[in-house]
Amino acid sequence: MAKNVGVMLSERVVTGLVVNNGLEGGLRYFPDEEGDEYALVEMPAEGIVEVLREQVKAVAAGQGDIAAVGVGVPGLVRNGVVEEAPNLPQLKGTRMAEMLGSALRSEGIAAPVTILNDADAFAAGIAATTGRLDAVVRVWTLGVGIGYGRYPATDGVWEGGHTVVTLDDKENYCGCGGRGHLEGIMGHRAMRLRFLDMEPEEVFEAAKSGDSRCGDFKKLWHKALAAATASSVHLRGPGKFYLAGFNVRFVDMAMLNEYLHQMVKMSPLQSYSIEIVKDAQETRVIGAGVSAHQTAAV
Ligand SMILES: [Zn+2]
Repeated sequence: MAKNVGVMLSERVVTGLVVNNGLEGGLRYFPDEEGDEYALVEMPAEGIVEVLREQVKAVAAGQGDIAAVGVGVPGLVRNGVVEEAPNLPQLKGTRMAEMLGSALRSEGIAAPVTILNDADAFAAGIAATTGRLDAVVRVWTLGVGIGYGRYPATDGVWEGGHTVVTLDDKENYCGCGGRGHLEGIMGHRAMRLRFLDMEPEEVFEAAKSGDSRCGDFKKLWHKALAAATASSVHLRGPGKFYLAGFNVRFVDMAMLNEYLHQMVKMSPLQSYSIEIVKDAQETRVIGAGVSAHQTAAV
């Protein structure tokens, strides 16, 4: 049975041994519970690669041959190079697959290294843990920003959180600076910029009790997600969409489905469905390992 190592790089480095679409043993964290949570932010790219090497080495110890190593990174990744990483800007331009691969070889670990976007790792993890490895899986993560991940891994770019969902000139709250973007409506940061006097929780609460400004925004928020999902359906076909992230608490599934139904009218495209899924690091680590294994097997 192939053994793979899955790694997620975010505020912490989370590493696990992935065997047969699941975790074997627990997860390793760096920094650990007592560690400085900003340790990675302050570290140069070489230092981060060094941490990855140590963590992979620790997880692989005593396991025999490792088939593949997958690392999920929050940012835009292509061909093993981190092209953009807003939360860890020092990684921009880092040839991570090459650097980590050679660092691991010096430890006697010859496994090929795959670097992937963290949301794509999440999508792969959902596919692996729900028995959908033969299907297309897409996931929206509703957090400070809006992430979009898809499985299976293919070449290209899909910054789904920046899907244009409105032509209104005043819609310019997206973290990337672009106009009319999904994240500019749904992102937590964007909502706080829009409602300077209210927290997002209060906005959705007020919408319930009939406040018309907040009620209108609640509709806009759901329409935006429906629009981006409809665009994905029209470009890639129907299928299963998952929602995760701390702001799934605002989702009114009936409202979302109603808007989506209005936006997707071609009958061969209507076999889509949306489901909320738990956002767990474990799922992402599994996805990184599984995705790396599939890439290495090609
Ligand atoms: Zn944007």
